[in-house]
Amino acid sequence: MATLDGEPFSKSKSMELPRSVVLGHDAILEAGDVCARLKLGRRALLVADTNTMKVAGETVFAKLEERKIHVETFLIPDSTIEAVLDARGVIRAKDCDFALGVGGGKSIDVAKCASYEEAVHFVSVPTAASHDGVVSSRATITKGGERVSLTAHTPIAVVMDTKIIAESPYRLLAAGCGDIISNATAVRDWLLAHKLRNEFHSSYAAALSEMTANLLIQQAHHIKPRLEESAWTVCKALVSSGVAMSIAGSSRPASGSEHKFSHALDRIAKKPALHGEQCGVGTVLMMFLHGGPWEAIRNALLTIGAPTTAHALGVADEEVVEALVHAHEIAPERYTVLGDSGLTYEAAERLARTTKVI
Ligand SMILES: [Zn+2]
Repeated sequence: MATLDGEPFSKSKSMELPRSVVLGHDAILEAGDVCARLKLGRRALLVADTNTMKVAGETVFAKLEERKIHVETFLIPDSTIEAVLDARGVIRAKDCDFALGVGGGKSIDVAKCASYEEAVHFVSVPTAASHDGVVSSRATITKGGERVSLTAHTPIAVVMDTKIIAESPYRLLAAGCGDIISNATAVRDWLLAHKLRNEFHSSYAAALSEMTANLLIQQAHHIKPRLEESAWTVCKALVSSGVAMSIAGSSRPASGSEHKFSHALDRIAKKPALHGEQCGVGTVLMMFLHGGPWEAIRNALLTIGAPTTAHALGVADEEVVEALVHAHEIAPERYTVLGDSGLTYEAAERLARTTKVI
């Protein structure tokens, strides 16, 4: 016997979800209360960079100390494997009970990996909403000069202060929208892999992920710079997308061919754009391949003010075509509309022209 998704009943499945999500104006002031309420312990490691320390870290520090939680601060220059090893060293040396990542993504990735490896809880405090990693269990770390995606754990708590996020550069929020909208093609790739390869598929995770992308597309005209409501909308979508990944037990519902394109562009472009910006453009391209409403995706990105062309990404047309040709080589075990052999150069160029990316 199997479920409708094709998964055998006998196989157990665990879902790791955040226990507490605090989202809103001045949410950061509740950071100490959240950690105390969840009884995370008496000693914390706070990972930030010099900028995010000023923007939010100092407040988090004060709020934790107010609740008699001793805080060790660890400032990172970048999200490298060396930074992760150093952070792990501090967790061990100072006997930290949990770790907080305070920042746009890099501090969160380092704190997430270090806490996972040291088997202590992790709290995510994003200062920007530029990608869905702020709520997910995955982390992007630089290892030997290359960006790699690592498995870690889902944050036990997420504190999203919409005031701080609304004040971060608008480009970051627009990029976050691109990462959410990319769910639209990721779920199509997933269903294709299920049909063609009998890959495990969760209808619930896929439905939640797709709905999140669709709601954001419908609300595109409400996403504007320095508008706290916009930050609120994007944060809620990031949480929803993260929950979809938790239900799936993988990044499948939020990462498909459009993410492969973005990762390929990271390798090929001299100066890659932001992850979410590239994924947004990738969604336009891959939606065309799926025979779906690529123009609606493009219009939503344009309305938001996110890039839809190579020029807007700041990459060469040639680099986009090369990334399309090589996208299928990224994570080949993850089957998508790109298939096993990908696009020919001519087909890639035609795709990019038809969708007005080049
Ligand atoms: Zn992403």
